[in-house]
Amino acid sequence: MTDKVHLGHRARKRFGQNFLDDAMIIDKIVTAIDPKPEDCLVEIGPGLGAITEPVTDLSGHLTVVELDKDLAERLIHHPFLGPKLTVYQGDAMKFDFASLVPEDKKIKVFGNLPYNISTPLLFHLFEFSNHIEHMHFMLQKEVVKRMVASPNCKAFGRLSVMTQYYCHAIPVIEVPPECFKPAPKVDSAVIRLIPKKPEQLRAKSTKLLNTVCLEAFNQRRKTIRNSLSNLLTADEMATIGLDIKLRAENLSLEQYIDIANWLYDNKQ
Ligand code: SAH
Repeated sequence: MTDKVHLGHRARKRFGQNFLDDAMIIDKIVTAIDPKPEDCLVEIGPGLGAITEPVTDLSGHLTVVELDKDLAERLIHHPFLGPKLTVYQGDAMKFDFASLVPEDKKIKVFGNLPYNISTPLLFHLFEFSNHIEHMHFMLQKEVVKRMVASPNCKAFGRLSVMTQYYCHAIPVIEVPPECFKPAPKVDSAVIRLIPKKPEQLRAKSTKLLNTVCLEAFNQRRKTIRNSLSNLLTADEMATIGLDIKLRAENLSLEQYIDIANWLYDNKQ
Protein backbone atom coordinates (compact mmCIF):
# COMPACT_ATOMS: atom_id res chain seq x y z
CA MET A 1 0.00 0.00 0.00
CA THR A 2 1.38 3.45 -0.84
CA ASP A 3 1.10 6.39 1.53
CA LYS A 4 -1.54 7.79 -0.86
CA VAL A 5 -4.01 5.47 0.89
CA HIS A 6 -4.86 6.61 4.40
CA LEU A 7 -7.51 4.95 6.58
CA GLY A 8 -8.74 3.08 3.51
CA HIS A 9 -9.20 6.23 1.40
CA ARG A 10 -7.10 6.97 -1.67
CA ALA A 11 -6.09 10.65 -1.47
CA ARG A 12 -7.38 12.71 -4.40
CA LYS A 13 -4.85 15.21 -5.64
CA ARG A 14 -7.45 17.34 -7.44
CA PHE A 15 -9.16 17.99 -4.09
CA GLY A 16 -5.88 18.97 -2.45
CA GLN A 17 -6.10 16.03 -0.05
CA ASN A 18 -3.26 15.79 2.44
CA PHE A 19 -4.55 14.27 5.65
CA LEU A 20 -3.14 15.32 8.99
CA ASP A 21 -1.58 12.39 10.82
CA ASP A 22 0.28 13.81 13.80
CA ALA A 23 -1.33 13.71 17.25
CA MET A 24 0.75 16.57 18.68
CA ILE A 25 -0.03 18.97 15.81
CA ILE A 26 -3.72 18.03 15.90
CA ASP A 27 -3.73 18.71 19.64
CA LYS A 28 -2.15 22.16 19.15
CA ILE A 29 -4.70 23.09 16.48
CA VAL A 30 -7.61 21.98 18.68
CA THR A 31 -6.18 23.95 21.62
CA ALA A 32 -5.96 27.06 19.39
CA ILE A 33 -9.59 26.65 18.27
CA ASP A 34 -10.65 26.05 21.90
CA PRO A 35 -14.07 24.51 21.05
CA LYS A 36 -16.92 24.99 23.53
CA PRO A 37 -20.41 23.42 23.57
CA GLU A 38 -22.05 26.85 23.03
CA ASP A 39 -19.93 27.55 19.92
CA CYS A 40 -21.26 27.45 16.38
CA LEU A 41 -18.30 25.72 14.70
CA VAL A 42 -17.80 25.14 10.99
CA GLU A 43 -15.06 23.01 9.44
CA ILE A 44 -14.05 23.28 5.79
CA GLY A 45 -12.73 20.04 4.27
CA PRO A 46 -13.01 17.65 7.23
CA GLY A 47 -11.64 14.80 5.10
CA LEU A 48 -11.15 11.71 7.25
CA GLY A 49 -11.91 13.63 10.43
CA ALA A 50 -8.43 14.24 11.89
CA ILE A 51 -9.48 17.57 13.45
CA THR A 52 -13.23 16.92 13.23
CA GLU A 53 -13.17 14.20 15.86
CA PRO A 54 -11.28 15.93 18.68
CA VAL A 55 -13.18 19.20 18.09
CA THR A 56 -16.55 17.42 18.18
CA ASP A 57 -15.50 15.65 21.41
CA LEU A 58 -15.30 19.09 23.02
CA SER A 59 -18.12 20.95 21.25
CA GLY A 60 -20.69 18.15 20.94
CA HIS A 61 -21.75 19.42 17.51
CA LEU A 62 -20.08 20.61 14.33
CA THR A 63 -21.09 21.69 10.81
CA VAL A 64 -18.79 20.57 8.00
CA VAL A 65 -18.48 21.46 4.30
CA GLU A 66 -16.77 18.74 2.26
CA LEU A 67 -16.50 18.61 -1.54
CA ASP A 68 -15.56 14.93 -1.88
CA LYS A 69 -18.78 12.86 -2.02
CA ASP A 70 -17.11 9.69 -0.68
CA LEU A 71 -15.67 11.52 2.32
CA ALA A 72 -18.95 13.32 3.02
CA GLU A 73 -20.77 9.93 2.95
CA ARG A 74 -18.17 8.43 5.26
CA LEU A 75 -18.75 11.20 7.80
CA ILE A 76 -22.54 11.00 7.58
CA HIS A 77 -22.42 7.25 8.28
CA HIS A 78 -19.62 7.39 10.84
CA PRO A 79 -20.91 5.46 13.87
CA PHE A 80 -19.85 7.95 16.57
CA LEU A 81 -19.22 11.19 14.67
CA GLY A 82 -22.13 11.04 12.23
CA PRO A 83 -24.92 11.95 14.68
CA LYS A 84 -22.94 14.96 15.96
CA LEU A 85 -22.29 16.44 12.51
CA THR A 86 -24.29 18.51 10.03
CA VAL A 87 -22.67 17.60 6.73
CA TYR A 88 -22.91 19.79 3.62
CA GLN A 89 -21.49 18.06 0.59
CA GLY A 90 -20.37 20.83 -1.74
CA ASP A 91 -17.85 23.48 -2.69
CA ALA A 92 -16.79 25.78 0.17
CA MET A 93 -15.94 28.46 -2.42
CA LYS A 94 -19.62 28.70 -3.34
CA PHE A 95 -20.97 28.13 0.15
CA ASP A 96 -23.10 30.81 1.81
CA PHE A 97 -21.54 30.85 5.28
CA ALA A 98 -24.05 33.50 6.40
CA SER A 99 -26.75 30.80 6.14
CA LEU A 100 -25.16 29.01 9.11
CA VAL A 101 -25.19 31.99 11.45
CA PRO A 102 -27.76 31.80 14.23
CA GLU A 103 -29.33 35.06 15.45
CA ASP A 104 -27.02 37.21 17.61
CA LYS A 105 -24.17 34.76 17.18
CA LYS A 106 -21.06 34.37 15.14
CA ILE A 107 -19.51 31.26 13.67
CA LYS A 108 -16.00 29.93 14.28
CA VAL A 109 -14.46 28.52 11.13
CA PHE A 110 -11.47 26.21 10.77
CA GLY A 111 -9.91 23.74 8.40
CA ASN A 112 -6.87 22.23 6.83
CA LEU A 113 -7.60 23.95 3.55
CA PRO A 114 -6.96 22.50 0.12
CA TYR A 115 -3.83 24.42 -0.92
CA ASN A 116 -4.76 24.61 -4.61
CA ILE A 117 -7.70 26.92 -3.85
CA SER A 118 -6.58 28.57 -0.61
CA THR A 119 -6.33 32.19 -1.87
CA PRO A 120 -9.76 32.38 -3.61
CA LEU A 121 -11.30 30.52 -0.66
CA LEU A 122 -9.83 33.04 1.81
CA PHE A 123 -11.22 35.92 -0.28
CA HIS A 124 -14.62 34.21 -0.29
CA LEU A 125 -14.51 33.87 3.51
CA PHE A 126 -13.49 37.52 4.01
CA GLU A 127 -16.88 38.44 2.52
CA PHE A 128 -18.47 36.87 5.60
CA SER A 129 -16.04 38.35 8.13
CA ASN A 130 -18.78 40.22 10.02
CA HIS A 131 -20.41 36.85 10.78
CA ILE A 132 -17.20 35.21 11.95
CA GLU A 133 -15.68 35.24 15.45
CA HIS A 134 -12.38 33.66 14.42
CA MET A 135 -10.82 31.34 11.84
CA HIS A 136 -7.97 28.85 12.07
CA PHE A 137 -6.51 27.49 8.87
CA MET A 138 -3.70 25.21 7.87
CA LEU A 139 -2.12 26.68 4.76
CA GLN A 140 1.05 26.55 2.79
CA LYS A 141 3.72 28.27 4.91
CA GLU A 142 4.44 30.71 2.07
CA VAL A 143 0.80 31.77 2.04
CA VAL A 144 0.83 32.41 5.81
CA LYS A 145 4.01 34.47 5.35
CA ARG A 146 2.30 36.57 2.70
CA MET A 147 -0.80 37.05 4.82
CA VAL A 148 1.15 38.47 7.77
CA ALA A 149 3.84 40.34 5.77
CA SER A 150 4.49 44.01 6.52
CA PRO A 151 5.19 46.74 3.95
CA ASN A 152 8.74 46.91 2.58
CA CYS A 153 8.98 43.10 2.50
CA LYS A 154 9.10 40.92 -0.61
CA ALA A 155 6.16 38.86 0.67
CA PHE A 156 3.94 41.96 1.02
CA GLY A 157 1.25 41.84 -1.66
CA ARG A 158 -2.47 41.85 -2.39
CA LEU A 159 -3.05 38.92 -0.01
CA SER A 160 -1.30 40.83 2.83
CA VAL A 161 -3.34 43.98 2.24
CA MET A 162 -6.70 42.22 1.93
CA THR A 163 -6.07 39.83 4.86
CA GLN A 164 -4.95 42.64 7.15
CA TYR A 165 -7.80 44.85 5.99
CA TYR A 166 -10.38 42.31 7.18
CA CYS A 167 -8.55 40.54 10.00
CA HIS A 168 -5.89 40.50 12.66
CA ALA A 169 -3.64 37.68 11.43
CA ILE A 170 -1.47 35.70 13.81
CA PRO A 171 0.70 32.70 12.87
CA VAL A 172 0.14 29.77 15.26
CA ILE A 173 2.50 26.90 14.35
CA GLU A 174 4.62 25.63 11.51
CA VAL A 175 3.95 22.09 10.32
CA PRO A 176 6.46 20.00 8.35
CA PRO A 177 5.39 17.77 5.40
CA GLU A 178 5.83 14.51 7.35
CA CYS A 179 2.85 15.33 9.57
CA PHE A 180 0.52 14.58 6.60
CA LYS A 181 -0.44 11.57 4.52
CA PRO A 182 0.44 11.83 1.73
CA ALA A 183 3.20 14.34 2.56
CA PRO A 184 2.79 17.59 0.58
CA LYS A 185 5.82 19.01 -1.27
CA VAL A 186 5.69 22.25 0.74
CA ASP A 187 5.93 23.33 4.37
CA SER A 188 2.69 24.26 6.08
CA ALA A 189 1.61 26.59 8.87
CA VAL A 190 -1.50 27.36 10.86
CA ILE A 191 -2.83 30.92 10.98
CA ARG A 192 -5.36 32.46 13.35
CA LEU A 193 -7.57 35.16 11.83
CA ILE A 194 -9.70 37.43 13.98
CA PRO A 195 -12.04 39.59 11.87
CA LYS A 196 -11.95 43.29 12.73
CA LYS A 197 -15.07 45.07 13.95
CA PRO A 198 -17.27 46.52 11.17
CA GLU A 199 -16.47 50.09 12.35
CA GLN A 200 -12.76 49.37 11.77
CA LEU A 201 -13.39 48.56 8.11
CA ARG A 202 -13.21 51.98 6.53
CA ALA A 203 -12.91 51.14 2.82
CA LYS A 204 -15.97 52.50 1.03
CA SER A 205 -15.66 49.71 -1.53
CA THR A 206 -13.63 46.55 -0.93
CA LYS A 207 -13.92 45.83 -4.65
CA LEU A 208 -12.03 49.07 -5.37
CA LEU A 209 -9.47 48.29 -2.67
CA ASN A 210 -8.88 44.95 -4.38
CA THR A 211 -8.60 46.65 -7.81
CA VAL A 212 -5.98 49.08 -6.50
CA CYS A 213 -3.96 46.17 -5.08
CA LEU A 214 -4.23 44.22 -8.33
CA GLU A 215 -2.99 47.18 -10.38
CA ALA A 216 -0.17 48.05 -7.98
CA PHE A 217 1.18 44.56 -7.37
CA ASN A 218 0.80 43.36 -10.97
CA GLN A 219 3.72 45.66 -11.72
CA ARG A 220 5.38 45.62 -8.33
CA ARG A 221 8.82 46.60 -9.66
CA LYS A 222 7.47 49.88 -11.02
CA THR A 223 6.86 53.09 -9.10
CA ILE A 224 3.22 53.77 -8.28
CA ARG A 225 3.33 56.74 -10.62
CA ASN A 226 3.47 54.14 -13.42
CA SER A 227 1.74 51.10 -11.96
CA LEU A 228 -1.32 53.08 -10.84
CA SER A 229 -1.42 55.40 -13.85
CA ASN A 230 -4.60 53.70 -15.16
CA LEU A 231 -6.41 54.73 -11.99
CA LEU A 232 -5.10 58.19 -11.11
CA THR A 233 -2.63 60.84 -12.24
CA ALA A 234 0.62 61.78 -10.48
CA ASP A 235 -1.04 65.05 -9.35
CA GLU A 236 -3.96 63.13 -7.90
CA MET A 237 -1.55 60.83 -6.07
CA ALA A 238 0.09 63.90 -4.57
CA THR A 239 -3.33 65.16 -3.41
CA ILE A 240 -3.71 61.98 -1.35
CA GLY A 241 -0.24 62.57 0.09
CA LEU A 242 1.49 59.75 -1.76
CA ASP A 243 5.14 59.81 -2.77
CA ILE A 244 4.90 58.83 -6.46
CA LYS A 245 8.41 57.36 -6.39
CA LEU A 246 7.35 54.55 -4.05
CA ARG A 247 6.63 51.02 -5.22
CA ALA A 248 3.60 48.86 -4.40
CA GLU A 249 5.34 47.11 -1.51
CA ASN A 250 6.23 50.44 0.17
CA LEU A 251 2.63 51.55 0.69
CA SER A 252 0.82 50.79 3.94
CA LEU A 253 -2.64 49.22 4.29
CA GLU A 254 -3.94 52.66 5.32
CA GLN A 255 -2.55 54.22 2.14
CA TYR A 256 -4.20 51.53 0.01
CA ILE A 257 -7.50 52.34 1.73
CA ASP A 258 -6.93 56.08 1.15
CA ILE A 259 -6.40 55.50 -2.58
CA ALA A 260 -9.49 53.28 -2.89
CA ASN A 261 -11.64 55.80 -0.98
CA TRP A 262 -10.34 58.70 -3.04
CA LEU A 263 -11.27 56.79 -6.22
CA TYR A 264 -14.68 56.03 -4.76
CA ASP A 265 -15.31 59.71 -3.98
CA ASN A 266 -13.86 61.17 -7.18
CA LYS A 267 -14.01 58.68 -10.03
CA GLN A 268 -17.17 56.64 -9.53
N1 SAH B 1 -9.09 18.21 7.47
C1 SAH B 1 -8.55 16.97 6.99
C2 SAH B 1 -8.41 16.94 5.44
C3 SAH B 1 -7.53 18.00 4.84
S1 SAH B 1 -7.27 17.77 3.10
C4 SAH B 1 -7.23 16.69 7.67
O1 SAH B 1 -6.67 17.61 8.25
O2 SAH B 1 -6.76 15.56 7.63
C5 SAH B 1 -8.37 19.00 2.40
C6 SAH B 1 -9.83 18.59 2.48
O3 SAH B 1 -10.61 19.59 1.80
C7 SAH B 1 -10.17 17.28 1.78
O4 SAH B 1 -11.06 16.54 2.58
C8 SAH B 1 -10.84 17.71 0.46
O5 SAH B 1 -11.71 16.75 -0.07
C9 SAH B 1 -11.55 18.97 0.92
N2 SAH B 1 -11.85 19.92 -0.15
C10 SAH B 1 -11.15 20.17 -1.28
N3 SAH B 1 -11.70 21.16 -1.99
C11 SAH B 1 -12.80 21.58 -1.30
C12 SAH B 1 -13.81 22.55 -1.53
N4 SAH B 1 -13.78 23.34 -2.60
N5 SAH B 1 -14.80 22.70 -0.61
C13 SAH B 1 -14.84 21.91 0.51
N6 SAH B 1 -13.91 20.95 0.76
C14 SAH B 1 -12.91 20.78 -0.12
